[in-house]
Amino acid sequence: MNADRGRCRLLVRGVVQGVGFRPFVYSTAAELALTGSVSNDSAGVIIDIEGAPAALREFTERLRHRPPPLAVIESIERSELPVRGGTGFHIAGTTRGSGRTLASPDVAICADCARELTDPADRRYRHPFINCTNCGPRFTIIASLPYDRDRTSMADFAMCRRCAREYHDPADRRFHAQPIACPDCGPALDYSIADTDDPLAAARKMLREGGILAVKGIGGYHLACDATDEDAVALLRARKRRGDKPFAVMVADRATAGTIARIDGDAAAILSSPQRPILLLPRGTRPLAAAVAPGNRDLGVMLAYTPLHLLLFGLPGDPPGPDVLVMTSANLGGEPICYTDDDAAQRLPELADAVLGHNRRILVPCDDSVVRVVDGEELPIRRSRGYAPLPLALPTPAAPTVAVGADVKNTCAVADGRYAWLSQHIGDMDDLATLHAFEAAERHLEELTGVRPQRLAADAHPGYRSSAWAHRSAGERPVHSVQHHHAHIAAVMGEHGLPDTATVTGIAFDGTGFGTDRAIWGGEVLAAGYKGFRRLAHLAYVPQPGGDASVHRPYRMALAHLHAAGIDWSEAIASVAACPSDERRVLIHQLETGLGCVPTSSMGRLFDAVASLAGVRHRVDYEAQAAIELEGLARDVTPEHAYRFAIIDPDADGPARISPAPVLAAVVADALAGVDAGLIGARFHAAVAELIVDAARRFGEPGVPVALSGGVFQNALLLSLARHRLAEKGFHVITHHRVPPNDGGLAFGQLLAAGAQ
Ligand code: ZN
Ligand code: ZN
Ligand code: FE
Repeated sequence: MNADRGRCRLLVRGVVQGVGFRPFVYSTAAELALTGSVSNDSAGVIIDIEGAPAALREFTERLRHRPPPLAVIESIERSELPVRGGTGFHIAGTTRGSGRTLASPDVAICADCARELTDPADRRYRHPFINCTNCGPRFTIIASLPYDRDRTSMADFAMCRRCAREYHDPADRRFHAQPIACPDCGPALDYSIADTDDPLAAARKMLREGGILAVKGIGGYHLACDATDEDAVALLRARKRRGDKPFAVMVADRATAGTIARIDGDAAAILSSPQRPILLLPRGTRPLAAAVAPGNRDLGVMLAYTPLHLLLFGLPGDPPGPDVLVMTSANLGGEPICYTDDDAAQRLPELADAVLGHNRRILVPCDDSVVRVVDGEELPIRRSRGYAPLPLALPTPAAPTVAVGADVKNTCAVADGRYAWLSQHIGDMDDLATLHAFEAAERHLEELTGVRPQRLAADAHPGYRSSAWAHRSAGERPVHSVQHHHAHIAAVMGEHGLPDTATVTGIAFDGTGFGTDRAIWGGEVLAAGYKGFRRLAHLAYVPQPGGDASVHRPYRMALAHLHAAGIDWSEAIASVAACPSDERRVLIHQLETGLGCVPTSSMGRLFDAVASLAGVRHRVDYEAQAAIELEGLARDVTPEHAYRFAIIDPDADGPARISPAPVLAAVVADALAGVDAGLIGARFHAAVAELIVDAARRFGEPGVPVALSGGVFQNALLLSLARHRLAEKGFHVITHHRVPPNDGGLAFGQLLAAGAQ
């Protein structure tokens, strides 16, 4: 044929099905006057395309760099074909092979739908369920794959003629948008109080008047109230039985977010991304009710991510209402999120003054995600709505495996071949309801991915409910026990695609993890690969008296550390004064005899102890509260020097010990001299960063990357300091960007560690 034409076949792999990819290909081809076809098969999307070479190049370029927002392009394979001279471009059907299609996460309302929502001339004007192939619910409405409307909770709604026409038109933005809906055929709102024609107006009135409103969202019910109304927020805390743990807030747009929080370019991009996570941001100039996030320098902010949320804030012409809403999951502290209507009917009346609901069922619970930005990069704190169940690429192919995670911030994960899938956030496994939520999430993950696990991976902790579940459910299949901190380090290695032969110097700092010697570990320096690890050094053991009591009352850990460091319990020390004298008597007995004590090398507990010694906080209401407040105070202070840990060489073959004694002595001296808690905090953060550098230099090998993981690295100040200091010394540092450094990322690490066995 003629030389000014070319033809090729492109195989596109990744998350490319059910995300509007074929309509995108169709319209791009049409725009560039290319001919051919596009179809799905088990491997991905196959494009047969023909036309002018420049247009073909432009086409591939757009595929690679401007795909639809939900698509994740993993690879494009290209093969040349003989020119055929066809006409037109068409979308071919799906050839269902034995491969798997990848389910998409839920996606925030797109700009096009948001525009239609506010356009009085549009037929979906003010429709709370407007969506298209680029946006809307996915993960939370899918019962099983393949992703077709009849396998989602939209099966309850028959499409009207106009919706059906859009659904079948390849050129339409709603081509094969499974949740497609309009006011004629879609779900409808309802309001729990009296009969009203306008549930939204009634709900907005409730919020305006300081009431607490339950709102049915994407992955469950939220409780909402005016975030500037002190009484409303305090009442919400009382009803939820929630102490000090911060609430997140929601606003309608970026401009409003900019008044309550300081937002730079990197933060703005994440805030308005299709995932719309809760972003932890420094507070702005406009104050909110003190009870929103007591004692916290940051604020969790998210943008409205469903059409219903946008309507709740009001469109032009609506009576004004609150423009900042507390948005917290509708459940009592510790319980899983409420998402079914039956559950809502039972649990919500005592929590909310009214319920704004609707008749589209939520099939899968999914909490909001939480993200931090550190040095311009994303640090996941909770990976859930908007991210789950996006696959994570594995560095080496895996046999079908399920990993059950840890008992706090639980997530589970499955792997098969080149992919792993991490579940949504499940929660703390301390009650039956959460165990049931875990079982449901695990089953659904298997269903969505088609993975039939041949083996299991679990934490080595003998008391974990997650591990017990693994052993109970294993049957004939093997269960691999993975040491907690090894799993943390494997997770960050896997996230960076390190090959199976790689080794790192792993710095695993967290609150609690079961050690191979049955002590509570948490200040660990490991020489680690996926297959195994060697413990190079650890924070010197101190007795943790009375387990949980010492987590809730940091002054106890402070006293334990003082005792271990040989520092007298002087009344002048804040932590000593905070400890009632009866408790002190019991404590000294425990510490001297070891009665009711477990040895711990926890870095998280050391942060607690220092926060207490500096007078920041002696009792906590939620995990890491004392450390978070210490970080907040230390953030803007530049210490002219750092405290110093002492590294004590091992007697024989064992690990070195890191003694915090000199740090504690300096903290106490500073506190007694009246040094500001912020400066003590800054000197302490600098000390921990220096310790990491020292450990890397002393124990690491040249060219071996330093991997930072564990819950302590949610601390943005420490993470940033450590990363910079290590980089200055020429180390290659790897940290988390895709899975959380806390136990929410543990299941991913367990998969990788088990896979290497
Ligand atoms: Zn849309
Ligand atoms: Zn319709
Ligand atoms: Fe951990």
